[in-house]
Amino acid sequence: MEPQAYKEIWKQVLSDIQKAGYYDSETFDSWISKTELFKIEDGTAFILYPTMITLNILKTEQGISLLRSSLYEVLKEEVSIQFISKQDASKLIPEIKLQQRTQNLMRTDFNEEYTFENFIEGNSNAEAYAACLSCCTQKKHLFNPIMIYGNSGLGKTHLLHAIGNYLKKERPETKVFYSYSGDLVSILLDAMKTKNIHGNAVDQVKSQLIDNDYFLIDDIQNLQQSSSQEVFFTVYNELISRNAQIVITSDMHPSELSGLQSRLISRFNSGLSVNIVKPEFDTSKAILKKKLEGNEEICQINEDVLDYLAHKFSNDVRNLEGSLNKLIFNATLENPDVIDLDFAQRILMKEPIVSSTSELTIKKIKKAVTRFYGLTYKDIEGKSRQKKLMNARQVFIYLSRELLHKAYVSIGQELGNRDHTTISSSYDRAVKLIQTDKNFKMAVDKVKSLLED
Ligand code: ADP
Ligand code: MG
Repeated sequence: MEPQAYKEIWKQVLSDIQKAGYYDSETFDSWISKTELFKIEDGTAFILYPTMITLNILKTEQGISLLRSSLYEVLKEEVSIQFISKQDASKLIPEIKLQQRTQNLMRTDFNEEYTFENFIEGNSNAEAYAACLSCCTQKKHLFNPIMIYGNSGLGKTHLLHAIGNYLKKERPETKVFYSYSGDLVSILLDAMKTKNIHGNAVDQVKSQLIDNDYFLIDDIQNLQQSSSQEVFFTVYNELISRNAQIVITSDMHPSELSGLQSRLISRFNSGLSVNIVKPEFDTSKAILKKKLEGNEEICQINEDVLDYLAHKFSNDVRNLEGSLNKLIFNATLENPDVIDLDFAQRILMKEPIVSSTSELTIKKIKKAVTRFYGLTYKDIEGKSRQKKLMNARQVFIYLSRELLHKAYVSIGQELGNRDHTTISSSYDRAVKLIQTDKNFKMAVDKVKSLLED
């Protein structure tokens, strides 16, 4: 109940007491009217008194019975009464705050855009999509928990919200809890620290968490190393035994969550784990087309631009969308007849979107190339003109330019201080090869995929 609601109740109770005429008006004004209703919980009304005098006036047999009957009149239910001094109550403030935060946590507004209808299915996410959709329609949950893992920006949060949106619409009676695990951890930790008039705030938070049919936890990796795991574990077990569906997302496979207790990991592994990977070309294009729906009026966009975006940015759907938004935005500024490849490349070059390759370094590319070809650094830095070594250097040069826009000089330094003109002509050849030589293209793609590991 909100604090305002307690105020309203108390106003009515006081007016009842006043009308009863048991206290003379001076006593009422000086002492009784200074009381407050702190809260009502588990059939007990907690009443705040300012001084001991007030307590003594209230705590007579008749005083209490008057309080009880007035409360009954207003609440239409019997409650017992407990008195707390205002001073003590101030110590309970953290508890009130905690309760409010827990209540906020229980009330999730799901992002209306993140629905199953707006989610584009492809091989990369088909299993995750199917698992999330089917758990919404089944009463008996076959797979519990469902664990969705994969890199950032691939639709994990979208799918959890889709579950929430679906249930809200199709089965409004179900209780759905969603939390980003960082928020949950912080509430659990605060509950562990907070004293409570009943002795234990953790139990209250726990019972609220357990009272759900669907329990959706986003980015579980934040639970690693946290002392709240103990509480989480008991909540988890209780939910499972009540046949609540648990769906968890993570940026790594459950067995790699090394900061989690092994009993939690083994429980996560006991359900269904599904991987979500970067969207393949067609899925990326379909995502772009979906995002374009409704924007047709504003601008026309050529098919080859979508191909370009799908090739370049599909490591992270957020960047894919970001790059498209950037084009649409710039189109509204410049008003071109159509967004063509030149326009797109100019805009996206000018201010390159930070893609997931931002953490990429030239050393990482070097490592991936040597791994793919089974070489050492010495090999590719050296002078040998063996075919395999030449190919490896060329792939390295090409990717360092394409992905990191590295200067020829810096690339040369990584290759045993080769001259920048050598690097530049090698890069020019690579640009042609990628169009004409299937093997070269395949090698480039393979090395790229190693970079994502
Ligand atoms: P994650 O939680 O895995 O980091 P999000 O769910 O936040 O990723 O997704 C990032 C953005 O990409 C969101 O705007 C989401 O709607 C969009 N998105 C991701 N995958 C898809 C998809 N398959 N279809 C449509 N939109 C997607
Ligand atoms: Mg997310």
